[in-house]
Amino acid sequence: KFITIEGPDGAGKTTQVKKIYEYLTSRGRKVLVTREPGGTALGEKLREVLLSLAGESPVPEAEALIYAASRAQLIKNVISPALLRGTYVLCDRFVDSSLAYQGWARGLGIEEILGINRWFIGELWPDLTILLDIDPEVSLKRLERARDRLEKETLEFHKRVREGFLKVREIFPERIVAVDASRSPEEVFDRISAYIRKML
Ligand code: C5P
Ligand code: MG
Repeated sequence: KFITIEGPDGAGKTTQVKKIYEYLTSRGRKVLVTREPGGTALGEKLREVLLSLAGESPVPEAEALIYAASRAQLIKNVISPALLRGTYVLCDRFVDSSLAYQGWARGLGIEEILGINRWFIGELWPDLTILLDIDPEVSLKRLERARDRLEKETLEFHKRVREGFLKVREIFPERIVAVDASRSPEEVFDRISAYIRKML
């Protein structure tokens, strides 16, 4: 099974990924945890490029393609082989982040970004996507001072990201579930584990 976790910066994705990992392994599942952008040597290099570029920002089209390149590498070298071995794959961000950030918030078009990604995702769509939904005013407050280039975006941008994620959920209602991420980590995980149990 392939599970992805999505949401804006400061929603608590990394914390929940850890909890889901522990839950699944305690039930005897082999689990591989990975993240985007990153998860491969190439992907981690691309992540560095994306997050630390100073001076010249990539144009949105270039940005979308770099995320896509990181994803293609991750799918072929990591996700797909793991799923073939029967390992559960838990990915911190996946294609829905590209749809929400580049497709909607940066205005490239959700369908356009879907098109690029369909090319290499093929049949490898997640079985379950957990969307941590939260008001950006709340999530941005959670981020410590050390923010990367993208987290310095305006509140307006982060509001569009949230809107984007909610639109993406409407496109894939059978795969994506939204969880209120403003609650405590334990409460959020309670909701998530109900969905995971159904999937097991
Ligand atoms: O969630 P994480 O901090 O690992 O994400 C790294 C950064 O990349 C975040 O600041 C996020 O806003 C950004 N991002 C993006 N477009 C994507 C995926 C991530 O702008 N498709
Ligand atoms: Mg972040």
